[in-house]
Amino acid sequence: MENLTLVKPKASPYYLPQGEEESVLTHAYRQKIPLLLKGPTGCGKSRFVEKMAHQLNRPLITVACNEDTSASDLVGRYLVKGGETVWQDGPVTRAIKTGSFLYLDEIAEAREDVVVLIHSLTDHRRELYIDRLNEVLKAPSEFMLLVSFNPGYQSALKEMKPSTRQRFIALNFNYPILEAEIKIVMAESACTEDVAKRLCKMALKMRAIENYEFRETVSTRLIVYAAKLIVSGLSPRLATTVAVSQVMTDDPEALAALNDIVSLTF
Ligand code: ADP
Repeated sequence: MENLTLVKPKASPYYLPQGEEESVLTHAYRQKIPLLLKGPTGCGKSRFVEKMAHQLNRPLITVACNEDTSASDLVGRYLVKGGETVWQDGPVTRAIKTGSFLYLDEIAEAREDVVVLIHSLTDHRRELYIDRLNEVLKAPSEFMLLVSFNPGYQSALKEMKPSTRQRFIALNFNYPILEAEIKIVMAESACTEDVAKRLCKMALKMRAIENYEFRETVSTRLIVYAAKLIVSGLSPRLATTVAVSQVMTDDPEALAALNDIVSLTF
């Protein structure tokens, strides 16, 4: 599957905590309670999961869900190989068999049958029914299910149902406060403190714009991209225009408003 990654990095991924999230995840893991991470895109949710999987010494399997992600993508399927039909485990099955952290990113984007599939994994049963094999797989205590959800982004149709939400405990994420975002941008891009400060203050101004409706606001990820391009030698204005303004909108007026802020920054 293209949108699947299995990661077990040697060095601990860099993650600057925003609050008590590390301790919440650690206790949820010990108590075998699944975790829902809420928050806008690019604010550090995936990085947090990577860091914690590393810290708790578990492999991490991440699935980026989209509207085509179905239960059989996650459980597994029969494939024809050289004239023979062979079963291939999907990411959920593999995560259970290997006692991994399973991170379903943007769960609300996936098809309805994915939600049904995870129900038995999220209650006391902690098991997966593989209908095609007529098998029930029990999750070991090391297995943990984590899902992310972006409350502002999904349409009303794609809201998570209360009956699904109530199977998780939930952690709220947001863009880091100014001082923390400056530290993150410096650590991620190796840019100077001056550049990081300018970019992060610029991001604050952009996030405060009220006249235009952006689908998503400027994320820490975009600020890190701009900083990396600047470190690489691109002019700060061009770097910021391509990494931030152009990504955020196609509307000429809104673009001009963003670029005004860019010109005041660099
Ligand atoms: P999300 O999963 O919320 O969409 P990511 O975890 O991929 O976002 O974060 C996007 C980028 O922002 C990361 O690659 C990292 O560079 C940076 N980032 C955001 N928050 C943090 C943080 N608290 N600590 C370290 N890096 C962060």
